[in-house]
Amino acid sequence: MNEVLSVRGLTIVFPMGHRTIRAVDNVSFSIAKGESIALVGESGSGKSTIAFALFNNVPQPGIIESGEIRYFQGGNFLEMGQASQRQVFWEKVSMVFQAAQNTLNPLLRIRRQVEDIAQAHHVNKKVAIDKARELLSTMYLDPTRVLDAYPHELSGGMKQRVSIALALLLDPEIIVLDEPTTALDVISQASVLKILNEIRRQRNISLIFITHDISVISQVVDRVLVMYAGSVVESGLVQKIVRDPSHPYAKGLIGSIPPLVGDLSDVHGLRGNPVNLLSLSGGCPFADRCPDVMTRCRTDRPLMRQLSTGNAVACHLYDAEGEEVRT
Ligand code: ATP
Ligand code: SF4
Repeated sequence: MNEVLSVRGLTIVFPMGHRTIRAVDNVSFSIAKGESIALVGESGSGKSTIAFALFNNVPQPGIIESGEIRYFQGGNFLEMGQASQRQVFWEKVSMVFQAAQNTLNPLLRIRRQVEDIAQAHHVNKKVAIDKARELLSTMYLDPTRVLDAYPHELSGGMKQRVSIALALLLDPEIIVLDEPTTALDVISQASVLKILNEIRRQRNISLIFITHDISVISQVVDRVLVMYAGSVVESGLVQKIVRDPSHPYAKGLIGSIPPLVGDLSDVHGLRGNPVNLLSLSGGCPFADRCPDVMTRCRTDRPLMRQLSTGNAVACHLYDAEGEEVRT
């Protein structure tokens, strides 16, 4: 596998007075060139904190306690100097933030925002504008109109497509997209995802989606990592996870998606609320909400196991199956 990113044993904590929240707990994953993966989970499961760690920018007072992040099979990104980190991150890896359309500067025309990116990365401004024209056309936008517009003159869906075009300006090999379509209506969502899929295929870039809504991204990702309380609880090919999830939390997440047509009585939401990370004990973090909870779940943390179905799952229901996955 031509691996472009490898994350191993990533643990991120937030000190809160005398106590510490483990927002990300021993997370490992990798992504190959041209692959598209998603980190999926409820609010507070640690997805965005991982996204911030990918460019060593965890919000205060967060601390990366342990782990390694390697891009393009190189050295540990977390131990590089700032200049080397900047070369890797903004030039080979770029990020589209949550509600990215709001990250456009409202006071500057799009043309000026393209030129500012070019200047910051020592790229000729005319070359950058030509590139932006090409990218905006790929996004089904009129380049001249958009370049001359202020952000408020564009619709939400147009602004999101502009944000993605800006993220592609330096020809990245990986794009991290944190909830890229959450603020959009259903039609704009579908159009942005279709464009992202086309770009991935044309340029063979790798996409990492961060989302709470597996139904929205299931058509555009190859693999899914389901997160709960800072840990990956199940991972596997998207078709397997969507059609035949193994972990009780993944089952609940998939079961809570309403069908487009048909009987809504088949929709079974997850019971309870996301766990309070300050109250975690040594057992399974999902124990209080799990319909299948057993005595040992209260005391022993389940380890990740590779099942014969192809999925890897961290749940005591599968203790007799598969090999333990080592990180
Ligand atoms: P959302 O979809 O709502 O952004 P998420 O899955 O991306 O949720 P994170 O934003 O990564 O989750 O947050 C994970 C946990 O980390 C939170 O529940 C919170 O306990 C902790 N956390 C995140 N940011 C901070 C912060 N700045 N200060 C203190 N704790 C934080
Ligand atoms: Fe449920 Fe136990 Fe599996 Fe946790 S380990 S998901 S509590 S069955």
